[in-house]
Amino acid sequence: MEERATAYNTDANVLLLQHKYDLVDLDPFGSPVPFLDAACKSVKKLLLVTATDTAPLCGAHTGGLRKYAAKPLNTEYHKEMATRILLGRVTRDLCKYDQAVQPLLSYSKSHFIRIIARVAKGAKKADACMNRLGFIAHCFACGNRVSSHDMQGIGTKCELCGAKIRLAGPLYLDPIKEYRFCEQVHKELAIREQGKKKEALKLVATSMNELDIPFYYEHHAICKALKVQPSTIATLIDALRSTGFSASRTHFSDTAFKTDARLEEIKAVLNAL
Ligand SMILES: [Zn+2]
Repeated sequence: MEERATAYNTDANVLLLQHKYDLVDLDPFGSPVPFLDAACKSVKKLLLVTATDTAPLCGAHTGGLRKYAAKPLNTEYHKEMATRILLGRVTRDLCKYDQAVQPLLSYSKSHFIRIIARVAKGAKKADACMNRLGFIAHCFACGNRVSSHDMQGIGTKCELCGAKIRLAGPLYLDPIKEYRFCEQVHKELAIREQGKKKEALKLVATSMNELDIPFYYEHHAICKALKVQPSTIATLIDALRSTGFSASRTHFSDTAFKTDARLEEIKAVLNAL
């Protein structure tokens, strides 16, 4: 049978509410929010969302709460904050239609955020998905941060320095990528001829090996706070690993790292370098 594609020049919301699609790729100018509800109702298997309104998502401008029903904070890890707030909004919009999100690859690049996610049908799966949302408490005095799935475990003061903490969320706290999917994308990219191939390979490889821990640390910001000369990221990651912690680079920033070590433990490793 001959394969056909049909193109429409019509309001995306009208089209999405009239038809169900296996794959929906939402790539509007600016915020995807005006189309997100209809996209979540329409999609059956794979949902892709691009957002270019990174300022409200990052907390750099107001509007995060209004558009995404979540409070962002403008921290050193604002790119990840934005990605997880967008994923949180996608989770909640899908859940209304008994659908669950399974992020396959989520990334932030220059002026946009891109989410590629599998969608699974079922009220129980959707309920389980809502449990992946949570909050992050950030201390602007010392840089300490704590993530939690509920607000009960979060106090009002920083446990390290006693300063008042600020809350961001709700946002998506579970892994934002799936290793096997990234691996397949990487293999496929490697055999293709395409523009910006090197850049794309680096992005996928770094995402694939990035720790599934919410929120990265900016290497230079920590060194400045500690008044120590920054080593290379590779040296710091090796030092954290040899001390028994997990550590990785992050695609969000070339000058940042992720680790399961707490802030005071990172400082001890840095001071020993
Ligand atoms: Zn603090």
